Amino acid sequence: MSTIVQSICFILFVGGCSYIAFRGFRFVYRNIKLGRKEDLTDQPGERLKTVLLIALGQKKMFKRPIAALLHLVIYVSFVITQIELIEIFIDGIFGTHRIIYNAWEHIPALRGLYVFAINMIEVLSLLTFIVTVAFLWRRDLLKLPRFNMPELKGWPNLDAHIILVLEMFLITNIFIMNSFDMAAAHGKYGFWLSGMLGQNWEGLNEGLIEVFEKIGWWGHLAGVMAFLMYLAYSKHLHIILAFFNTYFSRLTPKGYLPNMPEVTREVKLMLDPNAAVEPIAADAPTKFGAKDIFDLSWKNLLDAYTCTECGRCTAQCPANLTGKLLSPRKIMMDVRDRMEEVGSIMDANKGVWQDDGKTLIENGYISVEELRACTTCNACVEECPVNISPLDIIMQLRRSLIMEDSNSPNEWNGMFANLENNGAPWQFSPQDRLNWEKE
Ligand code: SF4
Ligand code: SF4
Repeated sequence: MSTIVQSICFILFVGGCSYIAFRGFRFVYRNIKLGRKEDLTDQPGERLKTVLLIALGQKKMFKRPIAALLHLVIYVSFVITQIELIEIFIDGIFGTHRIIYNAWEHIPALRGLYVFAINMIEVLSLLTFIVTVAFLWRRDLLKLPRFNMPELKGWPNLDAHIILVLEMFLITNIFIMNSFDMAAAHGKYGFWLSGMLGQNWEGLNEGLIEVFEKIGWWGHLAGVMAFLMYLAYSKHLHIILAFFNTYFSRLTPKGYLPNMPEVTREVKLMLDPNAAVEPIAADAPTKFGAKDIFDLSWKNLLDAYTCTECGRCTAQCPANLTGKLLSPRKIMMDVRDRMEEVGSIMDANKGVWQDDGKTLIENGYISVEELRACTTCNACVEECPVNISPLDIIMQLRRSLIMEDSNSPNEWNGMFANLENNGAPWQFSPQDRLNWEKE
């Protein structure tokens, strides 16, 4: 293939794939923007620190050191492999071969750096291959409980497998490419692992060696592009969104449950008609709590797209551990599924929303039973490695159930009446509170 033809094929292929990927990311971005406004831009320094610690430093992952270490291998390997990818892109555009190595041919120190980087990539790639096999073993043979829950049946399980297999495909192609390159150059590049592998190919016909090197090169590129196009439809979107999600973390104390300003205002006026209250904002919500994704904030929706489906939240949820229907991971997955449904309807109607008569509550999404099971203990928020709050969504949906639909069990209704009349959950008048003293 002549250089110019190769460059044109490369540019058309990468351009086409990037456009498809862009459409996927645009779909996700538009869906997140369907949420209510919420300002989370204060304290930029603190937010940056959160990104460095939680997303980049993976601090919360290390609560489970073995899983964290395995994940770290994949993560570091993913980051460092980009060096080789940059070279693939430059070679692809200009029709060159190993441009970085050759450009630095006369600067031994820089060439040494390049060879060192590729060797690191190969070592990490080999480790990643082993970790990927371990992840498959953990899911399919060891059957770890948190990866075998009802919400992971079907597509989520397939999604996890697709990425793991794609990972192995990418690594295999790196070794095909590098080892046949080493065979063609008789070890000139000095790559350790692919050098050992390449010795086995040196007896082959030169033309065949070149063909296999190209297969590895195009195979790796195709794997990267497939990954990019697939990302918007997969839980692996977290490799990008985790950084945004941690930046826009809520910085209030973990146990803080926000009041509804519209209710707080009314209560203040009931207690004191002359109380100084904020005027009702023009864009104030017209209902209590949330029924559908439009009533949740954009941060709740970003949370849902960032969820890695790791199940750490569910594994610590006391409601789930005591056999209740609730799984905080499923809450996040349901919100994302509903966003995808709403987004598809809007796309089919030229971007205009046509009510489909459904909401997030029931309709195959989150059931009343799940919402009632939450103890608001916050364990799911504490556990989440990317600062997601399933609790915030549960509370908003439950507020809607109770305040909009009066949908609460009798036991709760009694408590609500007591709170309203007695200022406490018990059936005693406030005046009788100190009666115990008289006895
Ligand atoms: S806050 Fe609710 S959903 Fe989260 S862990 Fe506690 S009980 Fe489970
Ligand atoms: S909410 Fe967080 S802890 Fe729960 S499954 Fe998603 S990423 Fe994991």
